[in-house]
Amino acid sequence: MPYPTLVACRHCDALFRRPRLLPGGQTACCSRCGSTLYRESAAQLDSLCAITVAALVTFIIAQAFPIIELDANGITSESSLIGALAVLWSQGMYAVASLVFCATVLFPLVEIVALLYLLLPIRRGIVPPGFRHVMHVIGFVRPWGMLEVFMVGILVAIVKLVSISRVMPQTALFAFAALTLMLTVVAMFDFRRLWEIADSLRAPLIGGDNDPGHYAPKLRSTRDSSAEGADGVAGHVTAKDAGLACCHVCGQLESRQLLARTPRKSHKQHKPRCTRCHAPMHLRRPDSLRRTWAFLSAAAILYIPANVLPIMNTATLAHDRGDTILSGIVHFWLTGEWLIASIVFIASIMVPMLKISALALLALTSQRRSRWRTAERTTLYRVVEVIGRWSMLDIFVIALTVALVRFGTFGTVTAGPGAIAFGAVVILTMLASMQFDPRLIWDPVSRAAPVAEEPSQYTMEHPHD
Ligand SMILES: [Zn+2]
Ligand SMILES: [Zn+2]
Repeated sequence: MPYPTLVACRHCDALFRRPRLLPGGQTACCSRCGSTLYRESAAQLDSLCAITVAALVTFIIAQAFPIIELDANGITSESSLIGALAVLWSQGMYAVASLVFCATVLFPLVEIVALLYLLLPIRRGIVPPGFRHVMHVIGFVRPWGMLEVFMVGILVAIVKLVSISRVMPQTALFAFAALTLMLTVVAMFDFRRLWEIADSLRAPLIGGDNDPGHYAPKLRSTRDSSAEGADGVAGHVTAKDAGLACCHVCGQLESRQLLARTPRKSHKQHKPRCTRCHAPMHLRRPDSLRRTWAFLSAAAILYIPANVLPIMNTATLAHDRGDTILSGIVHFWLTGEWLIASIVFIASIMVPMLKISALALLALTSQRRSRWRTAERTTLYRVVEVIGRWSMLDIFVIALTVALVRFGTFGTVTAGPGAIAFGAVVILTMLASMQFDPRLIWDPVSRAAPVAEEPSQYTMEHPHD
């Protein structure tokens, strides 16, 4: 039996009662660990649809036209994103080409189209067929679409290429800039709210909280600062303590009896599933720490070849040299491009290293059931989740440079084997942070409350922004 009036924090499992109305543009935060519980988007469903349609059109323009054109002593070279991928592919860099293709073409396109497929009918009060599957697809592709990182990658590539030739921005550059802005607005919408909106459309008469007038099609857009901050609740009851399990995918709370109902032996055949999204239900991610360690160790091992092997080979008439990540940064620094040197240093050297050590620290302390600085460790986890994708920057810069610098005997750039190792490090660290269950940080400090018969008696929470 689901509990639609309760919400559990995804990061610390604290249980809250959902306020009846959260004014538009406000965010309800967990008073225990500070994570966002849910967000009422200021954008109305209508404007969200409009922006998504515009994003689709801009996406097509961005992919169809060249991004930049180089002009070195009369020899010109221009490339679109697809062209850059073709060059990488023809050089035999299949892994890097596929990686860039997925992150900048396939996944963003799937996300935009899937969102439109859901939003357009929902705006009219209809839940489209296959809603559940499409939501799962969006949840899968969303973390891997990296257009905003690619945009910064274009800018870094421009600064880099200015030193060897004249650089002329082309149509797709502006399209990518606009697309980045639009997708940022779309990303502000907490798309998991669509589960609730769909629920309310299917069963409009269950209680005031499911009143469809409150969701689609008009979302309230007033900014109300009068909502009180979290009032001090002495100790928090977690969903686990209250006898509830929280779905990892849609956030629905279900009675733990659902998990207990299946005998362990036939676990494979009858996995307990969420009644709303049909995802397998667990109290905590199964084997979270073991999987985190597996991905982390693989990432740490590959971090060595990623830094030792050349990621880019430059061949000109005069010389032929291979650049590692570090030597590329040193080159930027020596030629006076301090800002770019710092950006690439932070994205390519610092972020992966910090990410690996931060995740190792989180996994180790959770394994030892440490009670040390739980709130700070949760913040650390959130930071790791947000910055992880930015390491892909260097891969995008390489892809663009390789595609553009093709001046025959004057100079060509090819991608080196270090790029594959580096791309793998980024993916593995992202997988490691996805496998880590941050609720493990809080489990040792959660008070062992008696299992409640009626979970709604617990903490009343107010939103604050
Ligand atoms: Zn929390
Ligand atoms: Zn679910």
